[in-house]
This record gives sequence, C-alpha cells and structure tokens, in this order.
Amino acid sequence: MAEEVPGRAELLDALSVIEDALSSGLALSRPCPATLDALDAADAEARAAPAIAASASSGPAGFAPRLKELEVRALSCTACRLASTRLHVVFGEGVAQPLVLVVGEGPGAEEDNQGLPFVGASGKLLDKMLAAIGLSRRENCYIANIVKCRPPGNREPQPDERAACMPYLREQIRLLAPKAILCAGRTAAQTLLDTTEGINRLRLKPHELEGIPLVATFHPSALLRDETLKRPAWEDLKVLRTLFAGAGGVS
Ligand code: SF4
Repeated sequence: MAEEVPGRAELLDALSVIEDALSSGLALSRPCPATLDALDAADAEARAAPAIAASASSGPAGFAPRLKELEVRALSCTACRLASTRLHVVFGEGVAQPLVLVVGEGPGAEEDNQGLPFVGASGKLLDKMLAAIGLSRRENCYIANIVKCRPPGNREPQPDERAACMPYLREQIRLLAPKAILCAGRTAAQTLLDTTEGINRLRLKPHELEGIPLVATFHPSALLRDETLKRPAWEDLKVLRTLFAGAGGVS
C-alpha cells in the first residue's frame, strides 16, 4: 500500500467539504454562493497540499517541438464537421511525461471560448478531485479530450468525429508518455478502449492502453448532476493513486 503523504487528512477533509458542497447545491443547474464559498475553501486547502512531482518536467528530447507541431496541425484542422462550429481548437494542457493523462469527451462552451480543457464548473471539480490525490495540471498532469472541437449544443461526439480526431490523441499519448490514464466519462472510456460497455462496468475493471494502465470513472459533470456518484468516483481515484504511487517524490 502506498505511504500516506503529509496532509492526507487535510485532503480527505477537503474532499468531504466538496462532497458536502455538492450535496447542498451543485446538483442544481446554478450553484448557490454558499456552495461556491465551500468549494473555494476546499480548493485553498487542496492547493496548500503537496503535489507529487512528475518524473520529468521538460519531457524527452524533442518532445516539445513535436507536441507543438501537432498542436499547430490541430489548430487548422478541418477533418470533421466540428471545425465549422468551433470557436477554438482545444488541444490540451499540462506537463510532459505526466503522472496522469486525463481524457475527457470534448470541449464544452467555456472550453470552446477559452481554448483550454476543463475550465468550467466540471473543470473546477476535476481540479479539486485531482488535488485530493496530489495531482495538478500545472505540475504533474496533462488534460486532453477525445475530440478537440466542441460538438454543438454539447451533444456527444459522433463516431466519425471521434475517429477523425483520435490520431491527435494517440500521438499525444505517445509523446506525453503518461504513467497512467484517467478516462473521465463513458465516451472517453468507450473510445479509448474500443468497447460499447457502460461506464458502470468499465470503472470496476483494470485496463491498459499501449501498456499504460488506465482507470475509467464518471465525468465530473455527471458528479455535478448526481451526488450519489461522488463516493464511487473517489474509489476510482484511490485506484488511480496506486498506479502512480512511487513514480515521483513529493515536491
Ligand atoms: S474535432 Fe478533431 S478532427 Fe474534427 S476538426 Fe476538430 S481537430 Fe479536426
């Protein structure tokens, strides 16, 4: 079993605050101010907790130019119909050789506006969930999506759109060389694992992609809609933590 890092009790407390906050308000379509205050407090605690360092912050030789080249290609991509309605291509964000690559379904409205992944309410929750196990997109994670352009109306990306975009994600995985992959939601898990099994079954099994261990869990937006998913999602995060424990020191 992995050693408990300093501040673990505080992190678990922070998660409890998040859970309580979700129970009290974020299941609503618009979060109430009290809920936001509670989440901000949990966020501050999580930020104060030590992050686990990635194995290398600069990545393998030649990594940065090749990833940049891939991003430049994606920014002008018109390989599927989503190009005609996007505001921005959301390529991804994070560090090289991350402990964990988080893969979501696709950009939502806020992500499309900003050109960054997971920046809306679900993104804030994702950051808090990652922080609770010592992860951060600024220090040891990378976050990307199955499709890089927003499906109109936040609909699910169609199979041909996913197929058109997957070469970008496959190349990202090859270049980033994460220690583990976290699939956030059914679409991401089904696409990466090439299966039609539901998320409730996928999340209970160990998986591998190109030799990289993979954990499937619920999308943060599902947690915002259904508070009963919070505890199983936390169990998934604990499984994820065992996959990268020992891969880096505590910074
Ligand atoms: S979703 Fe992917 S394949 Fe489709 S236009 Fe955007 S970058 Fe290209």
